[in-house]
Amino acid sequence: MNQEFTRKKVNSYANICDICHQYNEAVLHNKFWGQRSCVEHYKDGTLRCSTCHRLKQPEIKYVDLGHGRNLCSDCYSITIADPKECEKHIFENVRRFYTGLNLNLDEDISISLVDKDEMSRVRRRNYEMHRDIIGLATNILDFKPIVTISRCTKYEDRIEVEKKANKLTMAESFAALFGSNKDNKLLLLFARPDVLMGMTLAHEMMHKWLRFQGLIGDRKPERLVEEGICQVMSHMYGKWFCSTGFKYSSYNKTDEQLQFTKDLNKYYANLKKIDSDEAYREGFKQAMHVVKENGLKKTLDCIVKKGHLAPKMEEDEDNYEDAKGSLPPPKNDVAPPQGLQWVIVQ
Ligand SMILES: [Zn+2]
Ligand SMILES: [Zn+2]
Ligand SMILES: [Zn+2]
Repeated sequence: MNQEFTRKKVNSYANICDICHQYNEAVLHNKFWGQRSCVEHYKDGTLRCSTCHRLKQPEIKYVDLGHGRNLCSDCYSITIADPKECEKHIFENVRRFYTGLNLNLDEDISISLVDKDEMSRVRRRNYEMHRDIIGLATNILDFKPIVTISRCTKYEDRIEVEKKANKLTMAESFAALFGSNKDNKLLLLFARPDVLMGMTLAHEMMHKWLRFQGLIGDRKPERLVEEGICQVMSHMYGKWFCSTGFKYSSYNKTDEQLQFTKDLNKYYANLKKIDSDEAYREGFKQAMHVVKENGLKKTLDCIVKKGHLAPKMEEDEDNYEDAKGSLPPPKNDVAPPQGLQWVIVQ
């Protein structure tokens, strides 16, 4: 190999696309995952992983989950799809996490898994309707049965799903008619990596916990406060799961799977900071800041008693004499597009 060839290769390496392996004048560089790609692959039908958002490279297998969802082999390897397995390895873990924080949850919360189509149908009626991947605390308004996943078997390159239609019970119909929160179902999008499903559930459980504390109707905190603290719980769960939580599951992760779980958790921690919805984005930043300053317990006490994250200056005579409650000034920076951390390599 002559020297010139080597030098040329090194110089142009940054502009070689990972998808088509061609040289391109300008490629997009995903800073987090290190993937480089031509811009066209976002429009030419190249598959994109539904959870880590990486484009499909020819050498990597993707699994089709139906309804336009695909998982890359890394995400698929840490995905638990069967409802019974989710109960054992994910839902139990989220309850354990809350118990460890001394936050008691209503034991009767019903959690079901649904596919993307069903989630879209129910989502139209839900206050978190714009969220693509969040669990839903539903208000059932159309009285149609909810089609849930009853069983799911994972094969190396595909999944097999069984579903069932669940007619509403009398209690659920009553709750739907009169707006009770107690009998609402919690619906989660099925077949997502374990850490993400746990994070979503931890977020939704916090909504439930706040209701359980009597924060309903007029006492409901403003949306930014509520979504912010729910995002903090989701974030804390992810960190806990990656450090100790995963050990409670009886299935063993390989070192590679554990490392990827940590990477995915970090990726989603970044996404929280650039969320396109202000209540989630700024709420998360503000709640994180206050929890770091005042601790989780004081922050939750304050939300339950006063409806905001930290005591206002004029209210600081009680337990908050150090007056650390002032929130950081809102930043004017423009958030990059959701799910992308791109730089254009020229
Ligand atoms: Zn390309
Ligand atoms: Zn993926
Ligand atoms: Zn929420």
